[in-house]
Amino acid sequence: MKRTAFIAIVGRPNVGKSTLLNALLGEKIAIISKKPQTTRNSITGILTRGEDQLVFMDTPGMHRPRTRLGDYMVKTVTHTLGGVDAAILVVEAGCKVSPVEEGLVRRFDEAGIPALLAINKIDRANAGTVAETIERFAQIYDFASVIPISAQKNDGVDIVLDEASKFAYESEWFFPDDALTDQPDRRIASEIIREKLLRTLDNEIPHGTAVVIEDFSEEEGRLNVRAEIFCEKESHKGIIIGKGGSQLKLIGTRAREDMEAFFGVRVYLDLWVKVKKNWRDSEVNLANFGFSQKDFE
Ligand code: GDP
Ligand code: MG
Repeated sequence: MKRTAFIAIVGRPNVGKSTLLNALLGEKIAIISKKPQTTRNSITGILTRGEDQLVFMDTPGMHRPRTRLGDYMVKTVTHTLGGVDAAILVVEAGCKVSPVEEGLVRRFDEAGIPALLAINKIDRANAGTVAETIERFAQIYDFASVIPISAQKNDGVDIVLDEASKFAYESEWFFPDDALTDQPDRRIASEIIREKLLRTLDNEIPHGTAVVIEDFSEEEGRLNVRAEIFCEKESHKGIIIGKGGSQLKLIGTRAREDMEAFFGVRVYLDLWVKVKKNWRDSEVNLANFGFSQKDFE
């Protein structure tokens, strides 16, 4: 008897949703960064174990919209919650209930979906802090279970998986049993480059960068990837490239290594940096970069 469940992973930016998704799947699918809002689109991770196929959606964090891109991210969360069977709310040990979590549990209520509460980052909190966090959040929703975890140290993640499996219902599977994600390979390649950009440059440039994959082709067992990195200012371009191209080279090497690990082939990566002003606020450019509003209207 095959069973399935669609499960959204939700919570404030930076609480560890993408880290949890990767830990659940044991693979690197969602990109992780110290900066909030790295994940722009919902990323789906598929886990097939025995009779159960669990489909996890990693959503961008909820936050106040500032630009149209921000607006788009909030819509994605709302949209995702409308189509799932259950949710995992991730919070950080020690944090207080904010309007974000209040808004999310209101949506769980409206959609009539059960939810797990994962208290993350217990590797850097003491037992008292964890207990207080549980107490605060237990008051806002009747969670199916509350699980203290460290997504980064892979502590408690197996319990999340067991509890999440309880949401599965009898159904044909929606994906082949060896599928890991429904994201196209190009999207994964651009997400890997974006992660390296954000990690390597840390706080030097703001979030206004986009990666467009211009070429993605296989040739004699080698993957050729040509990508353009768009930034908003000339000065950012200089920072991304670095002295004598050193920064871009580092980004390229790290991205190539991850791509080779993920795709399992040798990768030739060609990176270019271009300036495109104010792309974040232009609908035309959003569409150009693969962010479409049409699914939500
Ligand atoms: P998201 O915005 O909710 O998807 O958060 P990410 O998964 O991108 O993680 C944000 C930051 O928190 C990254 O620097 C992670 O390495 C870190 N992080 C995630 N899980 C843990 C954890 O269990 N313990 C600690 N100490 N850090 C974590
Ligand atoms: Mg994320």
